[in-house]
Amino acid sequence: MKVDRRQFIKISAGAVGTAVVAETAAFGADTGPIQKEAQKVPIKTGRQVPSVCPYCAVGCGQIVTVDDHGKIIDIQGNPDSPISQGTLCPKGAATFQLVNNDLRITKVRYRAPGSDHWEDKSLDWAMGRIAELTKKTRDANFNEFQDMPDRKGGTIKKRVMNTYAIASLGGATMDNEWNYAHQKLFHALGVVYLENQARI
Ligand code: SF4
Repeated sequence: MKVDRRQFIKISAGAVGTAVVAETAAFGADTGPIQKEAQKVPIKTGRQVPSVCPYCAVGCGQIVTVDDHGKIIDIQGNPDSPISQGTLCPKGAATFQLVNNDLRITKVRYRAPGSDHWEDKSLDWAMGRIAELTKKTRDANFNEFQDMPDRKGGTIKKRVMNTYAIASLGGATMDNEWNYAHQKLFHALGVVYLENQARI
């Protein structure tokens, strides 16, 4: 079907109208069906331990529910927290999966350069390999001095003690304290490119 400009505007206006009606229904007073479904979700009971989300410096309050064996069975926002008042961001709301997750990889996986498959390695091997490559790369690319622009349009040699050959990008499960120790170590090595996924 060929649609001219006038017909296109009419169709678009109709679509917007339908969307508004649908949205009004969704945000109207009738939340009955949703509440009915929510009531079917089993409430997990156990010992409730107030805690703090480990991920970032906002420090949202959590309630960790554990069973008789100390196993975590639920983590929710803590309504008594003056900081977060029961709310958690999506990452904090998924903290439960940090401890209970069948998909979590618990072994070191290594793929050699040029290889088409992954191998299991020990943690000791991985730590040794990372330390070896970090030292080798830093030694080969360390800048004690660097030319910097001066105020007269020329250059001046400044002591920088850094390396641009190593970068660190932190993952989503690195918590606040780990990030603190991590940046201390990398800054001590002279690493400039240091970033974390959980930047808030
Ligand atoms: S990661 Fe989210 S829930 Fe956790 S402290 Fe930060 S803002 Fe709060």
